[in-house]
Amino acid sequence: MSRPRIGVDADGVVVNWNDKAAELMGLAERWGAWGPPEWDTLEKLNKKAFDLLWEEPLLSEMFREAAPLPNALETLQELSKVADVWIVSSRPGGAWAATKSWLRRHDVEVKGVRLVEGWREKAGVVKALGLRAFIDDKEETVRDLHSKGVLSFLMERNYNKGMDYPQRLRVRDLPSFKRKLERLGVIARGDE
Ligand SMILES: [Mg+2]
Repeated sequence: MSRPRIGVDADGVVVNWNDKAAELMGLAERWGAWGPPEWDTLEKLNKKAFDLLWEEPLLSEMFREAAPLPNALETLQELSKVADVWIVSSRPGGAWAATKSWLRRHDVEVKGVRLVEGWREKAGVVKALGLRAFIDDKEETVRDLHSKGVLSFLMERNYNKGMDYPQRLRVRDLPSFKRKLERLGVIARGDE
């Protein structure tokens, strides 16, 4: 059996972009144990500080220093044993070096990485790479891929809770994504 190709979004799925962004905006400590607000709220709280995240030097710092989400690295490693994993992320081109450095530092070995400018470009890349399944936290991306026939999973986060999307295509974390792919027969079970 040839190795299936699957795709994974970076921010909000593998990378805890949000907490680093809040820290760089000087907002992280105000929420204590609750943790900082999510990205959509960050933008509303301080648009000026939010915009600065997309310029150097904060741009590189954000994508180099953000922490991995719980279980994400382990699951990527497990997925890579049975599938060719591609990371397809909507990040500015200027984030390329920081993205590569993050992957090296965390020993993430995937088949490849593609950066796109905006969610509308994702479907084309996913199709061109021949990815059988994809996981993303952005409602528009998930819906777009789904409508184009890609097995497209939603990573559940507070900001996409209200999305009308089939329960079977929703997951709470990357390990659940992996288990669903196994059950659907997209990937082999790692221990088989
Ligand atoms: Mg994302």
